[in-house]
Amino acid sequence: MVMENNEATILGRTITRGAHVLVLPYALQGHINPILQFAKRLAFKGLKVTILVPSSISHQASFQNKHQSFDLEFVRIFDGYEEEPDKRDVDAYLHRLRTSTSQSLSDILDHYKKNNQELHPTPKMVIYDSLMPWVLDVVKKDGCEGAPFFTQSCVVNSIYYHVSQGELKIPITGSNVVSLPAIKSLLKVDDLPSFVTSAGQAYPAAARDIVINQFSNVKEAACLFVNTLDKLEIEVIEWMENICPVKAIGPCIPSKYLDNQIPDDIDYGLSLFEPETNACIQWLNARESGSVVYVSMGSMASLQPDQMKEIAMALSECNRFFLWVVRTSEENKLPLNFKEDTSEKGLIVNWCSQLEVLAHKAIGCFVTHCGWNSTLEAISLGVPMVGLPQWSDQATNAKCIEDYWGIGVRVKPNEDGFVTGEEIELCIDEVMEGESAKEMRENAKKWKQIAIEGHTSANNIQEFVTKLQFAT
Ligand code: UDP
Repeated sequence: MVMENNEATILGRTITRGAHVLVLPYALQGHINPILQFAKRLAFKGLKVTILVPSSISHQASFQNKHQSFDLEFVRIFDGYEEEPDKRDVDAYLHRLRTSTSQSLSDILDHYKKNNQELHPTPKMVIYDSLMPWVLDVVKKDGCEGAPFFTQSCVVNSIYYHVSQGELKIPITGSNVVSLPAIKSLLKVDDLPSFVTSAGQAYPAAARDIVINQFSNVKEAACLFVNTLDKLEIEVIEWMENICPVKAIGPCIPSKYLDNQIPDDIDYGLSLFEPETNACIQWLNARESGSVVYVSMGSMASLQPDQMKEIAMALSECNRFFLWVVRTSEENKLPLNFKEDTSEKGLIVNWCSQLEVLAHKAIGCFVTHCGWNSTLEAISLGVPMVGLPQWSDQATNAKCIEDYWGIGVRVKPNEDGFVTGEEIELCIDEVMEGESAKEMRENAKKWKQIAIEGHTSANNIQEFVTKLQFAT
């Protein structure tokens, strides 16, 4: 091994010997994407970054290692499962996840302490998904620092934080409105995350506890990383900084779709689904600019069959081209022969490279479930949205999209909480060429520019890296 300054050359390969950071994602697509992207940024800045890949997804998650600009290492961590866990008994699942991950993480940290310091300096920091706050206990016991990574907005963080402090009593129902510090307007029940409004009804208590417990030990963390753009919600971020050091470091999307500063950071790189990229892009290439409605409900939402039929009806009735992602597990809810009957105007795929699709000039609007990643991706690429929230934090994101940022509309459910095809069609028409379409497009363009500049996020990342490099 040859060593020069802070670089080691091993078998002809140069390794930057920066401070070592472990990154632990939660095994869901919407949680893997942003934390992996953050990890790449840290590695690009010179930190030695090891991603701990949960065993439950390690067989299907192949990282496409075409990234040359940064040195990431992947190490398997045992999370109690060798394949996708059965989560029907949430308590049992969480118990096993926690005990196995804690033990495995402790073993990994011990390993780094004992072995080959030249190649793998002892980690100085573990960055972990905020859904697993107990990771901090393990990390601290091993004499290391820890920082949670939040994959939801700060508006949503603030709501969960207030519930965790007993300052918002749940379930919040009826016609109540909620007033929270630094949030622009009163929030109606329908604007709040479903875990807060439907607690104990639609979800087991354990599911609610996961989101509320994210704040159980934040005061002991080195800082909180949040995948957000400060200008989107600066007041709330500043308010949260009174409680703990919040670092806005988003949007965590590949550099190609943002600042284009990291030459081969062109996709997320770790997909649990198989994208039909060529089919989508070829099909989009044949469409006119701004003519296509892109529809996706993300990686998890399972729609009521009737709701799926209403979306199908809206797409077949509206006089536009559409690209619809229907995951394999949702396909049986499509109306009979829908795919064939609409093949002249629509393409249905099981999964796509969403960033590539959103960045395509043919896309005119995005009918989205308003998952936080999808929201940030649409903002970063300047695509106006029709919000069709399903559960979790999506209603709150839809509220922000429509009322705070002016970059889309949110569908209005009928008295039964059901969204009709007619309503979806009206919303698509509004965003594509209604009275407010021009304004929404201009706002979307403005936010895109702010996201590309991303000054605060870049500064926060640089500050963290510098601090860690010089920490003893
Ligand atoms: N996604 C994708 N292809 C698809 C649908 C979604 O690559 O066909 C990605 C999307 O870009 C985003 C993630 O999957 O990064 C979904 O995360 P989000 O927070 O929007 O929703 P979730 O899946 O967690 O509900």
